[in-house]
Amino acid sequence: MKVLVINAGSSSLKYQLLDTDNQQVLAKGLCERIGIDGKFTYKAPGKNTIDAVDVAMPTHSEAIQAVLNALVDPDNGVIASMKEIDAVGHRVVHGGETFACSVKIDDKVMAALEECIPLAPLHNPANITGIKACQAVMGPDVPQVAVFDTAFHQTMPPVAYTYALPYEYYEKDKVRRYGFHGTSHKYVAQRAVAMLGKPIEELKLISCHLGNGSSVTAIDGGKSVDTSMGFTPLAGLPMGTRSGDLDAGILEYLMGKYNMDIKEMLNVLNKKSGVLGVSGVSSDFRDLSAAGEKGNARAALAVDMFNYGVKKYIGAYAAAMGGVDAIIFTAGVGENSADQRMAIASGLEFMGVKMDAEANNVRGKETVISAADSQVKVLLIPTNEELMIALDTAALA
Ligand code: AMP
Repeated sequence: MKVLVINAGSSSLKYQLLDTDNQQVLAKGLCERIGIDGKFTYKAPGKNTIDAVDVAMPTHSEAIQAVLNALVDPDNGVIASMKEIDAVGHRVVHGGETFACSVKIDDKVMAALEECIPLAPLHNPANITGIKACQAVMGPDVPQVAVFDTAFHQTMPPVAYTYALPYEYYEKDKVRRYGFHGTSHKYVAQRAVAMLGKPIEELKLISCHLGNGSSVTAIDGGKSVDTSMGFTPLAGLPMGTRSGDLDAGILEYLMGKYNMDIKEMLNVLNKKSGVLGVSGVSSDFRDLSAAGEKGNARAALAVDMFNYGVKKYIGAYAAAMGGVDAIIFTAGVGENSADQRMAIASGLEFMGVKMDAEANNVRGKETVISAADSQVKVLLIPTNEELMIALDTAALA
């Protein structure tokens, strides 16, 4: 089945056309500056790459049309006609408590997506715009599926998702932990099951999605039972530019002292904090490691704080599940930084984690990086959210 995967942002749209039968990517790319001027990028194996060329994109509809035009182009395309696209899978950030799995989109689903907007006011409107643009350009006969970042975590028990706030904020206002990166955590958990060759029901996994945004998830018997992100993706670990968890009392103190309103404060917490804020150097872990090696103490501190945070979550989630069979590293840092994986896993020998330094000296490859006699397996698994979205979409369509 050929599935077009769409990840729509407010002014950008990432796409991939995948064949789910052989799990091959047929073409992929990006529309940027939608609503401003429009830049179009397209890559397909054996075809000419189109790199950020000017294509007018006043709205997401023109962006989708540009994608379809490129895919069916007689010289440079990968399909003969739009009819070859069997279904479209959309990444949707927030499904609230309404969606615990992916769904085929109809009018009722669209209404429920609109209801989730207050939970993700920056992301969900863009996702909805992407869906509407596809419906308009491709017509009603092509099935469209929504795949949610939050859905995988809907199995968390109340003890993990409830905040210690007046309970009516949960009942009336839906304030609770939702968790994000669900598609990635679900994908790597499925791959881990295949690598370990044991029934999913018997496995306790901790998956560490460590990238520019980072989250750790406890997965017991295939179900997410706790995760580090919260009501928003601002919670949990320090990230590239996000603070992660902090004492809410700090907000009042800083807002009072520097006369900031809540918007300015949140801008600091989302855009100027995390490893960027601590280091003053960069939000990119490669820059931080390089600066740390040259003796920049704050860059080294930022990386150490991040690694320490991941280690604490691993310990906490092993305790929460009463053990752990495998720890998974994925996303930009998790897949590429042997040093950070080693720093995170070292000191966990007491709970049966023993790394193999040579096996760990690898990047971007599905492999076991713990020693043969390690009680807890440590796995490197490159994430593939687009493939997960395509597989869910094919199953539903
Ligand atoms: P992602 O959000 O998953 O794309 O991950 C982006 C992050 O991965 C950035 O902070 C990159 O610096 C980091 N990253 C990529 N390659 C490496 C590497 N070789 N060593 C350390 N961090 C890396």
